[in-house]
Amino acid sequence: MEPRPAALDIALGHGRQPIAASARQAAGLTLWAERDAAHGWRIAAAAADPAPLTPLVGTAERVGDHVMLHGPADPANAAALRTLLPNLRPAPLALATSAGFGDRLGLATPGHVDALRAVGGEGRVAPIFAQQSVRENTRTGRTPQEVLDDATLGAFLAGWAGPVGADADHLKSEADVDAHLAVGFSFFTIDPGDHVVSEADALEGAALTEAFERRPPWAALDSDPADLLRRLAGTTVDLGDRPLTFAPGELERAAVKYGGALAHVARLARHLRGQAGPERAELEVSVDETDTPTTLAEHAYLAIELRRLGVDWVSLAPRFVGAFEKGVDYIGDLGALARDLDGHARVAAALGPYKLSLHSGSDKFAVYPIAVAAAGGLVHLKTAGTSYLEALRVAGQHDPDLLHAVMRLGLERFAEDVKSYHISGRPEGVPDLAALPGTAALALLEQTDARQVLHVTFGSALRTYGEPLKALLRAHPDDYRAALRRHFERHLAPFVGAATGGPA
Ligand SMILES: [Zn+2]
Repeated sequence: MEPRPAALDIALGHGRQPIAASARQAAGLTLWAERDAAHGWRIAAAAADPAPLTPLVGTAERVGDHVMLHGPADPANAAALRTLLPNLRPAPLALATSAGFGDRLGLATPGHVDALRAVGGEGRVAPIFAQQSVRENTRTGRTPQEVLDDATLGAFLAGWAGPVGADADHLKSEADVDAHLAVGFSFFTIDPGDHVVSEADALEGAALTEAFERRPPWAALDSDPADLLRRLAGTTVDLGDRPLTFAPGELERAAVKYGGALAHVARLARHLRGQAGPERAELEVSVDETDTPTTLAEHAYLAIELRRLGVDWVSLAPRFVGAFEKGVDYIGDLGALARDLDGHARVAAALGPYKLSLHSGSDKFAVYPIAVAAAGGLVHLKTAGTSYLEALRVAGQHDPDLLHAVMRLGLERFAEDVKSYHISGRPEGVPDLAALPGTAALALLEQTDARQVLHVTFGSALRTYGEPLKALLRAHPDDYRAALRRHFERHLAPFVGAATGGPA
């Protein structure tokens, strides 16, 4: 802990309410957050002369031998913070063990920081506080800029002094890449899921041969069927005591299933690299949202061919065996998952190294120790909607009627909103709300069907109840932080021991 800056004492002496944990020293100035009755909190800074304060927007006054400024926690000052405090500028995290914290309300980052600190993860697990998929932004009505600004402000409020990444999640087009690069995202998750041909799993014999000739976009892959077979058929990837050889038909099936996806990733990666080098932007490849699991041979095919096409990536999200459904623990055989994760980790080590990315990674408490055993610290854990569910928990404590209303709306909207999600929770399984009066409504957050219905209907809920929900969280910031801390300690603790440490 740094000694408390003198400027904080001066602020206290003038009736301000500085939040001591937020205080940071930068070139020539001290910055802190302070309580503000009207908006919850605001940004403050002090310096011996006005020059270092110029990036900030606010009201300045001379107090003794300091110039003291206070201004709103708004987009202009979020940008100023990123200028003044370089660690808040998203940067590539490379192979550091990392965790992504999606935050649909823009108020969760301080709680995420608390959890990282509570488990000793600071300096060991590199955080991505700004992370939203294009699909989430469409449903919440937020822009990439708002997502980044909210994370910047939250990290500042909590006094986060380590590096941060920012994940533009599940990008599907060049326009998606551009929109996130322009505002400073650093981690680009390319999702070629629309180009994966899942029917390939069922093809055999002549049908497979014909599809192999016809389906993959060979020109875009700078290859042809004979070339691929010549290079890879019968070759072995050394995975220690689990060598992997492309069995007859396996390479053909992998090319049919993932050839189009490969070409799509290569195209978006080239588009990204045309504008930003690896020191500015890193890349994840995600094929997690497909109907069928990614076999080890398919993973190896993807990695070998991505490399050949000049793509550089730091993490890859296969579709693992079993089900990684939203908001609930793993569904499936944990023994089979352990063997699957071990195999994928070996492929990633042999053909990388790169991290295995666990998408839909929230609430998978049975999976984390298995993932660490398989991959050590070469893991990226990605969570999204679970922080929203924790916000609903706080709502249930202070305003159970609001939680009831969100649940009722979710039941109405489910049939429409569930499209594009793979979950097994159903409205019929949600407990009768009449039997859960008052804070008994909190039981909804312990029940699988209710959690999943709430999880996938967040867009509808935020359109109708976003403002009251955010107002409630702003009125009870410590409760939201405590709920998130409790919840995320369980997510992060298993990774800390094996973590590879943050970037310098
Ligand atoms: Zn995903």
